[in-house]
Order: sequence, then C-alpha cells, then structure tokens
Amino acid sequence: MQNYPIFVDLKEQACLMVGGGPVALRKIRLMLSAGANITVVAPELCSDLEDEFGEQIVHHARKFEDSDIAGYRLITAATSDPDVNRRVSELAQSADIPVNVVDQPELCSFITPSIVDRSPVLIAISTGGDAPVLARMLRTKLEAFIPASYGKLAATMGKYRDALKKAVSEERDRRLFWEKVVQGPIAELFFSGQSAEAEKMLHKKIDNSSDEQQTLGEVWLIGAGPGDPDLLTFRALRLMQQADVVLYDRLVSEPILNLTRRDADRIYVGKRRADHAVPQGEINQLLVDLAKQGKSVVRLKGGDPFIFGRGGEEIELLAESGVPFQIVPGITAASGCATYAGIPLTHRDHAQSCVFVTGHLKDGSVDLNWNMLATPNQTVIIYMGLVGLPHICQKLIEHGVSPTMPIALVEQGTTQRQKVYTGQLDNMPDLIADQTVSAPTLIIIGSVVNLRNKLAWFSPES
Ligand code: SAH
Repeated sequence: MQNYPIFVDLKEQACLMVGGGPVALRKIRLMLSAGANITVVAPELCSDLEDEFGEQIVHHARKFEDSDIAGYRLITAATSDPDVNRRVSELAQSADIPVNVVDQPELCSFITPSIVDRSPVLIAISTGGDAPVLARMLRTKLEAFIPASYGKLAATMGKYRDALKKAVSEERDRRLFWEKVVQGPIAELFFSGQSAEAEKMLHKKIDNSSDEQQTLGEVWLIGAGPGDPDLLTFRALRLMQQADVVLYDRLVSEPILNLTRRDADRIYVGKRRADHAVPQGEINQLLVDLAKQGKSVVRLKGGDPFIFGRGGEEIELLAESGVPFQIVPGITAASGCATYAGIPLTHRDHAQSCVFVTGHLKDGSVDLNWNMLATPNQTVIIYMGLVGLPHICQKLIEHGVSPTMPIALVEQGTTQRQKVYTGQLDNMPDLIADQTVSAPTLIIIGSVVNLRNKLAWFSPES
C-alpha cells in the first residue's frame, strides 16, 4: 500500500491555505464543509473565492512569509509559483505539520483523494497520485451507482444505534440486524424516497428484535473460479463481503481471499493430493456447527463447487441438519484455462463434444473409460492429471488415438503466473519430465489445441 488512508477531523481546526486562485477555492470549499477555520495568505483572492467564501475565511492580502506556518493543523499550498510551493512544503515538513501541495505529490506529506460524498457516508479514492484520471473515472462510476439517499439511510441508522444496542446485546447479532436492514425492504424504501415510512418500519423492527431470538446462520458454498479475481460472479462477491467465517482450500488465490470481509475469520481446510489438511467429514461438520452458532459461513472452493469439488458432499449434511444454504456457481478450470490459453473447447471443424474427467491416480493407475475418451472429434479435459500424465498418454495411444494428437498443459491458468505447454501425446511426458510443471495444472487433449497458435491472447506479466 503506497499510502495509509485516514479521515481527519478538521472541525474548528486552524488550517492555512497559501494561494487564492480557483484551485485554492476548490480545496477551501471542501475544508469549510468539514468545519475548518481557514486562513488564506495570497496577494489577492480570485473573485469567485471572494464572493463565495470571503466572509467565512481570514485573508492576509500579501505574499507568503516563512513565519506564516506557525500554529496550523494542516497546510495546503495552491499557488502558481513553484518556489513558494516548495518553500511551504519544506517549512511545514520540518515543523511536522501535514502539508499538501496541489498536484505535486513529491512535495506532499498527505494527498487528497477523489471523493463521493453521501455524508455521513464518504468514499475516498486514491491512485497514490499515479493516475488521477482513473480515480475520477471510478468516482463517476460510484456516483452513478450509489443512490443519493445513502446518506439519509446512514444518518437514520446512526440515530437508532443506541436503541438497537439496548434491545440486542450481542455485537454480532446487531451486525446481522443492520445487514438485513441495508439489504432489505427498509433500505429500498429509503432509496425510493419514502424515508418516513422506512424509519417507521425500522423502529418497529427494533421493537420486535430481542436477545432471545437466536438466529440460525447460513452457509454459502461459493465457486471462486480458477484464480483471476475478475472471474468471480457478482453474487459471489456480495456474499463474500458478508461472511463471518471463510473456509477455503489451496486452490483459492490470495487476491480472491482478500475480497472477503476484512474481519472475517479465515480457516484453511486445504487439500493437496492425498494430503487432507482437514478430513472431509470434519469440514462438513464444521460448516454445520458454525452455522448453528448463527454465523454467515462462506465455503470458498476453486473453480465450480459442483465440478470435482465435493460440493455435493458438503451440502448434504447441511441439508440433513436443516441449515439454510446457497450455492454459487463459479467458472470451472476447464473453461477458464481453455479461454485464457486461446483454446476453444469445441469448434465446428475439430470437436463436437468435450468431456471433463479426473485423472486422479488410485493405486498407481487411472481408472477411466478409455474407449469413450478415444472417440474422434472430441476434446478431453483432464483435471488432477499431472502425476498420471505418462500413463494417460500411453493409454490413449493404446486405445487408438494418434500419437501426434495435440495436447496442452495449462499451469495456474488465468493467473499472472499462467504457463502453457503444448506438444503431442507421444512427446508430452518427455517434454515435461525436465521442466518443473506443478499443480494446479489442467490437461487439454484434442486438435483444438492447435488453434492456440492463432488465438492466444492472454500474456501474463511474469
Ligand atoms: N472445482 C474445481 C476443480 C477442482 S479439482 C473447478 O471447477 O475448477 C483440482 C484440479 O483442477 C487441479 O488439479 C487442476 O487440474 C484443475 N485446476 C483448478 N484450478 C486450476 C488453474 N487455475 N489452472 C490449472 N488447473 C486448475
């Protein structure tokens, strides 16, 4: 993180503005709305500044002098004279007073973000000074996306905080209560402008809530996709941000985990091949127990939970135990890796079907329907097949597939560490023998692999 974000209380605080032009005006407008006492040092004020705020500021109509910085909480320089700006910055920094020189990040000890103001809700966006245009674009998007009445909703929630505290003693239960408010009919009433009606409903809801009502939690089994966080669904993201606890396994990438609620507990239940960090039965039971404690539990799985993900097993016990659950599909490795490798899984000239199989070894061999896999005009996708690869290639050749059939291995597909190895059935085992290909790797077999020569589009940075 380039900067540490904070919000500063400027109420009644003495702030100095050096400069009296239009840029200073913009900053002064914001600082005044945060309640600051502002002194401006500038030979003259632009007429807009004079007209709008002339009465609310103290103006020293002269050039900046070194002694001007004494006694201020915050200093801003917005003059067109680089020497003055630099001098203000130096003096302020040596006196340990936070200073901002507009549009000159190298002279700043703090920078000001782009903001979306729905007071008391305030959203600040920063690109650390690297790309202000991007920050402004994001701000425009958020402005459009966040209803103006958010501020009213937040203020009303503030008004009823104490009342809810009296009615509900557990902090977690209060959070659940507010989550329902902001995502339910009460918020919708606010957004549609019926704030009096909304407030009445909120009042009633608080009266009806009490500590005796022990709430049952819920489990959300979420497909996190193959690695690139951009491939999450909206629903996955929304639920991830409401989690109390997150259970995740090895395939869930760090950037994706970072999108779960900041203060959610994280429990690693990951598996490597044949090495189960937490046995499956225990994971199933843990999900039930946590939900019974009233928690919102996110079970994050790589790819799609229903494709080689044991999702079915995990929710079976939930269903039997009467715990509510939702399942969110994710982009499975086959689809993510093939797309990011530029290999269409079906193609009118190459493959009319595709099959997904697991190449997981049992007792040193892979037990698959080889005749079915050797069918022509088909793409075969093998999950968990890296260790069994030589065996798989040999079996397919034995069952009539051409030894020159194209094959691709996609390692860490869709991520910035993606690597794609291509070859043919009879040489792939040798090709990879001396390279360090590691899990997770997906195998794609079929003539569609050749299309990659034309269609590859994704080039990871590393
Ligand atoms: N439920 C998951 C699959 C779990 S099985 C899904 O729908 O994708 C684990 C196997 O998936 C790995 O051994 C590997 O073959 C494949 N896999 C998962 N993520 C992958 C990725 N980012 N790149 C390559 N293969 C991946």
